[in-house]
Amino acid sequence: MTKVGQENESLVEKDRQHVWHHISAYNEKNPPMIITEGKGAWITDHNGNRYLDGMSGLWCVNVGYGREELAKAAYEQMTKLAYAPLTQSHEPAIGLAEKLNEMLGDEYVFFYSNSGSDANEVAFKLARQYHQQNGESSRYKFISRYRAYHGSSMGALSATGQALRKYKYEPLAPGFLHVAPPDNYRRPAGQSIEEYNIQRAQEFEEKIIWEQKETIAGIIMEPLITGGGVLIPHPVYLEKVQEICQRHGVLLIIDEVICGFGRTGKAFGHQHFNVKPDIITMAKGLTSAYLPLSVTAVRKDIYEKFDTGEQNSHLRHINTFGGNPAACAVALKNLEIIEKESLVERSANLGERLQKELASLKDHPFVGDIRGLGFLLGIELVEDKKTKQPASNARVAKIIGECKANGLIIGRNGDTVAGYNNILALSPPLSCTDEDVDFMIAVVKKVFKENE
Ligand code: PMP
Repeated sequence: MTKVGQENESLVEKDRQHVWHHISAYNEKNPPMIITEGKGAWITDHNGNRYLDGMSGLWCVNVGYGREELAKAAYEQMTKLAYAPLTQSHEPAIGLAEKLNEMLGDEYVFFYSNSGSDANEVAFKLARQYHQQNGESSRYKFISRYRAYHGSSMGALSATGQALRKYKYEPLAPGFLHVAPPDNYRRPAGQSIEEYNIQRAQEFEEKIIWEQKETIAGIIMEPLITGGGVLIPHPVYLEKVQEICQRHGVLLIIDEVICGFGRTGKAFGHQHFNVKPDIITMAKGLTSAYLPLSVTAVRKDIYEKFDTGEQNSHLRHINTFGGNPAACAVALKNLEIIEKESLVERSANLGERLQKELASLKDHPFVGDIRGLGFLLGIELVEDKKTKQPASNARVAKIIGECKANGLIIGRNGDTVAGYNNILALSPPLSCTDEDVDFMIAVVKKVFKENE
């Protein structure tokens, strides 16, 4: 019989031989963390170490790990009806669409896919087709922001504004343009946040005009840039962008893949602002990642351009797994849990507490800025508070490593190519207990104290 230690070593060796990790190379000094269990906000690795998952996986396990209700919902649906294509329909897809509309004010129709990238691809395709069927076939370009991430497939990656993720895969899809996002911490000295945000929003209008407005199909943006460094705009920014879209006949696509389902302390991130998106994409927290599922929500009057009964007017997009019955059933149960346990409010309240208690870190020599909305917190590390020079790779990695050594997983956000990969992220399950929050605060404070 093998001993536990030997088993663990062979697991790491087998992993190295057979599993290609996502955006990371195998590293002898830093072997993979093989995660074996999860309960609540906590995960356990193959060596039996426990960690509070301060990133909810990839910002997605909103209701926490180990929820039997979700496993049951999947089991019951799989044994009743495992599969039906959405060229037809099925009850969980209908029920979920109804529920999502209840959350959004009954103005949308829902197209199901498997991932956030898929949902954005659908948004791009249907936006182009909508314009064609609306008598404006010249509109095909999309504008997004530098530092934004919108997915890994060719279209979604084209919309992404992080060059290092793209340059070895180019040429990507043509027709994707970028403008700078508002980064309030680094705004020009002497400019108010509001003025600066208006100016940044106006960059969209300039781009639209320079590119010839009849060629622009849509603008895609997250309500706040998440993975690109937790960049929270002033409310005037999104309002202004919407106004520009409306003035120029451009569709506003809001990517809620991370911000949706309570992450920012509201059901959807855009609900912090006075905007009504034309298209909304969602994934991650929709099922709390228990099963893959994403949605492209489309305003009903846009959908009507596809539902004319004319030949070839329908959306020519299909995927086999999108809207899988068990995934929809799990999503419905997940939304029920979020509602029953008031997890959106919990995210708002605990997020506020986290931010308040960590506010004193602002005096730390390497902390430039702390910002957040709900349970999405960013701590921007700098080498020098005056020049705001981003913290070195080593400094950021050290803090993250020491948090992990103390049992807390935190994330690293930003954009490597611009040198701004210096933002620590805390984005724990919304179901965290008060003790979990105490633990996060204690670890972060301790690690910063030891790095003064
Ligand atoms: N949009 C945003 C804002 C994301 O953060 C992500 C993934 N992190 C995606 C889209 C792509 O989602 P997926 O990985 O499910 O394709």
